This record gives sequence, C-alpha cells and structure tokens, in this order.
Amino acid sequence: MNDEILDWGIAELHRRLEAREVSTVEVIDAYQEQIEIQEPEIGAFLTLDLDAARSTATAQDTRRSRGETLGRMAGVPVALKDNLCTTAFPTTAASRILEGWIPPYNATVVDRLADQDGIVLGKTNLDEFAMGSSTENSAYKITKNPYDLERVPGGSSGGSAAAVASRMALVGLGSDTGGSIRQPAALTGIVGFKPTYGRVSRYGLLAFASSLDQIGPLTASVEDAALVAECIMGHDPRDATSLQEASPLLLGALTEGVRGIRVGIVTNLVEIASPSIQAALLRAADALAQAGALISEISIDELAFGLAAYYVVAPAEASSNLARYDGVRYGLREPGATVEEMMIATRTKGFGPEVKRRIMLGTYALSAGYYDAFYVTAQRVRSLVRSAFDRAYESVDLLLTPTSPTTAFRIGERSADPVEMYRSDICTIPSNLSGDPALSVPAGADPDGLPIGVQLLGPPRSEQLLFRGAYAVEEGLR
Ligand code: GLN
Repeated sequence: MNDEILDWGIAELHRRLEAREVSTVEVIDAYQEQIEIQEPEIGAFLTLDLDAARSTATAQDTRRSRGETLGRMAGVPVALKDNLCTTAFPTTAASRILEGWIPPYNATVVDRLADQDGIVLGKTNLDEFAMGSSTENSAYKITKNPYDLERVPGGSSGGSAAAVASRMALVGLGSDTGGSIRQPAALTGIVGFKPTYGRVSRYGLLAFASSLDQIGPLTASVEDAALVAECIMGHDPRDATSLQEASPLLLGALTEGVRGIRVGIVTNLVEIASPSIQAALLRAADALAQAGALISEISIDELAFGLAAYYVVAPAEASSNLARYDGVRYGLREPGATVEEMMIATRTKGFGPEVKRRIMLGTYALSAGYYDAFYVTAQRVRSLVRSAFDRAYESVDLLLTPTSPTTAFRIGERSADPVEMYRSDICTIPSNLSGDPALSVPAGADPDGLPIGVQLLGPPRSEQLLFRGAYAVEEGLR
C-alpha cells in the first residue's frame, strides 16, 4: 500500500482521500517510511519535522470527517528549499552564518501552500545562498542523486529535487536565479518550473540576486507543477516587483494541445549538449510535432553571452544583498575587539568559499573605475538577450533547448574549476536575464540511465502556452 501511495500525483491522492480509501495520516506515514529508507543515503533534508506533519494530517482528517472542504494542496507532503523563510523551522540557506536562525515570518509562498492545506515535511539542502549547480556548496552536507549516489542532484535546489525524485516528498519548492529549479529537475528526472519574473512573490525568499530570483515548483508531473504554480502565483503587496495582474489558469489549459503552435529548436544551444541529450531533444520535438506543433530551427547567438553577463550581474546584486549578514542582526557572531573586527571574523567564518568568491567578484564589478567596464557592459548584454528573445518570438511561439548540456556529473568533478561549474547553466540563464518563464520536463535517460531534461521557453507571461507544450512533451514521451 505504501508504495502505491508514493506513486500518486496530487489529483489521484485527492480522489483517494475523498473516497476515504486512505487517510491523510496514512499518507504521511507512507512518506515517513520512505524517508527512513532513502534519506540516510540521499541526504536531501536539512531539517525534518514529521511529528508536526502528522498532527496537521490528523487535523485534516478530522476536518474532512466533519464534511469540511479542504484546500487544493490538502494532504500533499511538501519539501521547502531552506532559503524560504519559515517560522516553524530554522532557515539557514545552507550557510553557517544563519545556523539555527528562525525567521519571524513565513515567506508568502509558504503561507499560500499552508492556506491550501499543504503539509510541510521539512527544509531541503541547497548550495549556500543558492550559489551553485550541484548542492556541493552547502555548509552542512552533500546531497546525492537518487539515480546514482556518486553523482550530484544538480543545484542549487538539489535537496528539493532529490526529495521529489526519491519520492520523499510529493512537491518541492525551489528558487531559480540562473537555473536552480530547472537544472536539478533535469538531473533528477522531474519537472521544474521557473515562472515569469514577478509572477510569484519573493517575500521571505533570502535574496541572492533580486532582479533574477524566482520561486517555483519541482514535481513528478506537469499536472502537479501546474497545480502548485496556481497556488503560489499571484500579486503580493509585500513584493514591490510582484506583477499586478490575475495569474493564468494552468491546469485547465493542459489538454488544450499544441496544434498549430510554432516551436523553435535553438540550434546553438543544442550543439553544445552531449549526443544523448541532443537525441532526447529531437524525441521531444517529435512528440510536439506528433501533437500538431510546427517545428523549426533557430539560432540565437546572443543567448550564449548570457552566462558571462550573469556572472557579473548576479554577484553584483549578491554582494549588496549579503551585506546584511554582519553578525549584528542575524545568526552567527564571532567575537572581535572592535565592531569591524567582529564583522570580519563573523563573515570570514560564516561564509563558504563560493559565497566569498561571489561577494568579491560583485564588489569588484561595482567598484569605481570598473563599474562601466563590467557592470554597465553586463547590463547591455542583458538587454541584448532580451531583444534577441523578442526577435525570436516574432517567428515562433515557444523555444525548445536542452535544460543542461550534460546529465548528472560526479561529486567533486567540477569543484576545482568554478567556470566549468558555471557552464552548467548556459541554457537556463538567458530566461533569468530576460525574466521569461521556463520549464524543464523529463525526456528519457542517457545510456547510463541518468535522466535527461529538455527546456521549453516562452515570452513574458506565456505560462499557459508553456504548460500546454510541456504536457504535450510528457504525454508524447510516455
Ligand atoms: N548555478 C547558478 C549560480 O551558481 C544559478 C544558481 C541559482 O539559480 N540559484 O549562480
């Protein structure tokens, strides 16, 4: 029975709960058992509270037996990336500098899932402050890829991805600044969705690069991603960059199909991917064509410049955002004879090497004499990426690319060379620079059995179309 429970998507789970074939407590028990088996090997979580989850489940069962209608996430076990503020759990961003810090408020997305009766099991591992592509930069532990324990799950939302992929949670939330939802989703064989910038409130997300950060779901299916997205999207007065418009309905749109939709394969991003990923992408394109989409090829050279621009813009914003961790207001404080010495000691001990690298890169790029050469140039390239997308969307409705140029790499394989690690995100970064929505959907496996993801990109606020495309790929490859 437990194994069967773990196989259900949200809709199936709700049918069974409604029919009283299973109780919410039994669902939580099934996930607890799975966590006891998998977590010691995978290491996806930084904190777990299954007792709290079980009390929430008991309360939901009581409400249901009284005839109450429960929310859209009722009984759904959720794993939250540990850079989302929660009053019920410490929130560390996988950094020593926030060890044990308990925020005084919940992130808006956390409240929205709770309002819909989602049940949080725990907080998941990430690259420190979401800086990385492998989850190896966590100050606490290394998370393993469920498909091969010697490989990374991707990052930075690697904990949420591994938790969902190993069925320790039904839904994960992650954040995506340069690919951190989509790349781990691809490397662990699940769906990962980054909404249009401003679609989901960033209130209570520990800021990395504020002009790029977006929160989104990691799930086993496109349908589940659509449901979770519907629950978390929508205007929030607490986030000044939040879009002031009604959010799109996604679930209902899934089955509208892709007949007549023009999809462009981005050839210059396909060429840099491994042969098995290129083959998977062609299979996905074929699935779309079978469903009636019109496939063409398009080269968008500017997208490849995105990587360099990102590694100026993101560290610049990070250097400013991380200035608040000064030993005064949050978490760790190391002693020092003067305030300045205290701050230096705290930041020296509290931040890991990658975070320090980003702060130094960002501070350098913003400093007098270098600002024009680096920061202003990077912003110009950012505009170039935006206009290149705009031009592409004059002739196609959606773009299709690999999510990652490779499948999951070995633990340690890219640690010695930061630029090699940065290259992992070459296909995902452009849509963060442009703010456009993007989604990674599973498309089979390589000869070693490692999952492959393909990425669909759409113009600003095109989530409906994006989900229709993703659903067609998922259905066609089934
Ligand atoms: N891997 C990219 C980085 O290290 C993206 C991270 C993210 O999206 N949070 O910055």
